[in-house]
Amino acid sequence: MKYKPLLNRKKISLIVLILLSIAVGCKKNNSNPPVKTTETSTNLTQDEKISIAKAGFSPTNAIRVKGGFIVEGDILLKQADLDFQSQHVEEIVFKKPTTEQYRTLFIVSTLTNAIKVKVSAGAAQTVFTTAATKAIKRYNDLGLTITFALLDSSSTDKEDILITGQDFGDPNILGQSSGFPGPDGKPATPITLNSVRYNKDFQDKGELVTVIAHEIGHTIGFRHTDYANRAYSCGYDLSSWIGILQAIFKIPVNEGSFAIYIPGTPLGGEAGSWMLACSDGTDRPFTPSDIVALKALYPVKQ
Ligand SMILES: [Zn+2]
Repeated sequence: MKYKPLLNRKKISLIVLILLSIAVGCKKNNSNPPVKTTETSTNLTQDEKISIAKAGFSPTNAIRVKGGFIVEGDILLKQADLDFQSQHVEEIVFKKPTTEQYRTLFIVSTLTNAIKVKVSAGAAQTVFTTAATKAIKRYNDLGLTITFALLDSSSTDKEDILITGQDFGDPNILGQSSGFPGPDGKPATPITLNSVRYNKDFQDKGELVTVIAHEIGHTIGFRHTDYANRAYSCGYDLSSWIGILQAIFKIPVNEGSFAIYIPGTPLGGEAGSWMLACSDGTDRPFTPSDIVALKALYPVKQ
């Protein structure tokens, strides 16, 4: 999940006014050099961008990292994940989901026992453990068929999901998940959190709980709530890629065409969803629609 302070309407109006006045200013003075815009994904090759797009992820702002690519700000996908995902995307494309609350192709199917979560965070062990305990409680309180158990740090049990820290070199990256559940029905692991921001002195007012709940959401098969329109929480425009995606799939598509819509979730965007791509740093417990989505994938235990 990435950090992005939410703008209120007044601020947006002000920015629009400033941008308009800049635009007018440029027109008045033709001697000004044209403003160039660049994408941070320009370090990717065209083949890499197409490979990411074919797998159903936007290459806009995607970055290459050791072992794969970070897409949508916080999802680490290996080339093998992209290849695998792209085999299944076309089937999803032609169902044309258009609205919000999305899941991935596979969800967790190993539900007989609780999903074992372990925290390994060095000096920040207490901070991480306290937040992970609260995040897990949010899921377990719903009485779903999926449950989580936090292992003691000294446990020799093999965990299903490891939560650990890392210096991302970017203060705005709050956490990352290692993709989604695979065909084996096991959750993705590990979850990596920003160890610089979430250090031993971090005073959590719910931000870290929310980031952990969010990354757990990815590991069990949820895509971003505002997947079809990440301008909703992140404020950046993906339209430049839509034409290329249409050329690849030869049908009219939007970015929301590549994930499976969860029935019963709202048509419009939803403020406060735990699976929004960007965070304003606030605590975001499950909204009523989030709970609908969670119950759709992992029904309440009978
Ligand atoms: Zn995310």
